[in-house]
Amino acid sequence: MPTGIPILSAADDLYPSMLEILARLVGFDTTSHKSNLEMIDYIQDILDGNGITSELHWNEERTKANLVATAGAGDSGGRGVVWSAHTDVVPVDGQSWSADPFALRVTESVAIGRGTADMKGFIACCLAILSRVDQDRLTTPLTLMLTYEEEVGCVGARRLVEEMRTWEGHVKGCIVGEPTGLAVVVGHKGKQNHRITFKSEPKHAALAPQMPNPIASAASVIGHAQSLNETFRSKGPHDDRFDIGHSWINIGRVDGGVKPNIVPEDCVVEFEIRNVPGHGCDGIATAINLFATGEVLADMRTRSDLSEVRLKQLSDTPPFSIDPAHEFVTYVRDAFGTEDPPQFVPFGTESGLIWGLAGIPTVVCGPGTITEAHTADEFVLLEQLKQCLQYLGSLPLA
Ligand SMILES: [Zn+2]
Repeated sequence: MPTGIPILSAADDLYPSMLEILARLVGFDTTSHKSNLEMIDYIQDILDGNGITSELHWNEERTKANLVATAGAGDSGGRGVVWSAHTDVVPVDGQSWSADPFALRVTESVAIGRGTADMKGFIACCLAILSRVDQDRLTTPLTLMLTYEEEVGCVGARRLVEEMRTWEGHVKGCIVGEPTGLAVVVGHKGKQNHRITFKSEPKHAALAPQMPNPIASAASVIGHAQSLNETFRSKGPHDDRFDIGHSWINIGRVDGGVKPNIVPEDCVVEFEIRNVPGHGCDGIATAINLFATGEVLADMRTRSDLSEVRLKQLSDTPPFSIDPAHEFVTYVRDAFGTEDPPQFVPFGTESGLIWGLAGIPTVVCGPGTITEAHTADEFVLLEQLKQCLQYLGSLPLA
């Protein structure tokens, strides 16, 4: 009869050590554009302390690293159950914090600091358990997978997809500890961010009738996107598991021109596509991009050969959807003892890569809520951290 995760010393010691670890983790400013290596070093030390070796997978500049560490596998190559989290946090710039965001504050009921909910609270729970796990008694291995630059489009996780594919047959499933209030989540939409730049020649406005106008060209593309949106709304594809059950293109930024008496030189449009599972972002982006580089550019070129339309994809987070009746979903829900039905959430995670591209059965479940993430005075309820320790510790791995 399998039992929860075997721990070397009394399990009730885990909570204070988890809080100590959380304080250290929050102390590392791992805003996405900065290095995460100091934090990774600290985490490796904790794992080493319990005889768990870790591998690092670097970015090209070797300023950031993903970490993968497995406990209890011996030489089997097993990965067992994976706990996954991103190490980066969103910037604090422009937010009004009541104290240093990178110094953990613990009150009677909450832990406050950048990343406490998203997702250093979860990492601290994982590390508290891994620092004490009795590897000899693990019958299923336990793997920690930490990534960099999730907040700017799952950059680190994407570099691990090939590695994860080699785990086939050696892995049971993955829990991504994004803040769900510890609800078990089985789906979310995907998102892609794109930029289109329209370029021509700046001229005196008196000559405007002879010139292409990049702002007007951008407006045509925006109009095209809006008409696609109306088609998504009326014709779908629809997925009623989401509050807003269809895809959408959000025009998020437009920037161009100098003043009314100059024909503008350029105009930049940035948009985000949020798609329901089964309705590919790539296809939607292609429809917009083809319109921009086809009809719109051809029209600009009738008046200036120097006209250009440039496309750039800024980020890509695939959608995530796993059958709520999947064996791994049931395994996690049974271990956690939760009766609540599996949920769908409106925010993106790395799960679309882990399940969709690498084929590892995945659920999202972690302490804190998404409304607390990314805010000034970000916090997580201490009760949630305690429950997270209990949930993770209850996985039947012995
Ligand atoms: Zn997150």
